[in-house]
Amino acid sequence: PQADAATMPGRVLSVHGLASVVQAPDGRIFQCSTRGVLKSLSTDLRHVVVAGDQVIFAQSGPEEGVIERVEPRRTIVCRTSRNRQHVLVSNVDQLLIVTSAAEPALKPNLIDRLIVEAERMQIPPIICINKVDLVDPADLQPLAGVFGQMGYEVLLLSATQGLGVDRLRRLVKGKESVVAGQSGVGKSSLLNLIEPGLQLKVGRVSTENEKGRHTTTVAKLIPLEAGGYVVDTPGIRQFQLWDVVPEEVAGYYRDLRPYVSQCRFANCTHQHESDCAVKDAVADGRLDVRRYESFCHLFAGDEA
Ligand code: GDP
Ligand code: ZN
Repeated sequence: PQADAATMPGRVLSVHGLASVVQAPDGRIFQCSTRGVLKSLSTDLRHVVVAGDQVIFAQSGPEEGVIERVEPRRTIVCRTSRNRQHVLVSNVDQLLIVTSAAEPALKPNLIDRLIVEAERMQIPPIICINKVDLVDPADLQPLAGVFGQMGYEVLLLSATQGLGVDRLRRLVKGKESVVAGQSGVGKSSLLNLIEPGLQLKVGRVSTENEKGRHTTTVAKLIPLEAGGYVVDTPGIRQFQLWDVVPEEVAGYYRDLRPYVSQCRFANCTHQHESDCAVKDAVADGRLDVRRYESFCHLFAGDEA
């Protein structure tokens, strides 16, 4: 259906069953149902409307509306369970990979794994290393340098000292950012600094199973005062979305990619083959050893 005078564009903030919370451009919030014909277009009702969707809706009451149309999604974040893809959120502009320099210990391999997810979804990652107040920042430079050389944005932050927070605030302004990272690294603390009105509980011990078994998957966009949204849900926080096949992993390692095509065997796994351009690059220092080893772990299907 064409948009007419009685309809307007909106952004879906969250979906609860068949009801969606939609924000109009002027900030007003509407509780929306979905037009029947729209629902029947999809074989999977859960995917008709998701958080992040750009929609056209008709106002049907002071705070009510009916979604008439869902615009094509630029990007999607999904989770695969029992071989079914479940779209969690759409139109994501960037993935904030939040880690801590200490407490919990820095896990570079986990950063690599989340970068692979970001590359697979074609969503630019921003690598946020929090709690730099607990270490000598110079110790982080080599790692930050490797990610920086690959073209990724790297932020060294301290929520407790307010370090790097202005830059993070600038980066999230006007964008839809999904926040991912282990519990305890300081995600809530950082979000509270970006958006003081949020008042997320800090230091809350996660009762969720580490594998995300009991996590909710209801994604929610939190509008930012300065424009833009952060998506922060326990289900995405833990980010157990891993379903990349080993053969694809090398393609998602930006630094490996230039060498892959130069290997002797077209189906080279870069593990034990002879005349492997990737291994040669590691041997003469063109490729970071740690990155190569983390690639091997992922290739073997190990958990980060
Ligand atoms: P989340 O689970 O990722 O949301 O982490 P929280 O924001 O709840 O923070 C977990 C703990 O780390 C809390 O006790 C915070 O006070 C602490 N914390 C957060 N940011 C920093 C930081 O930059 N430096 C230090 N030293 N502690 C921090
Ligand atoms: Zn190779």
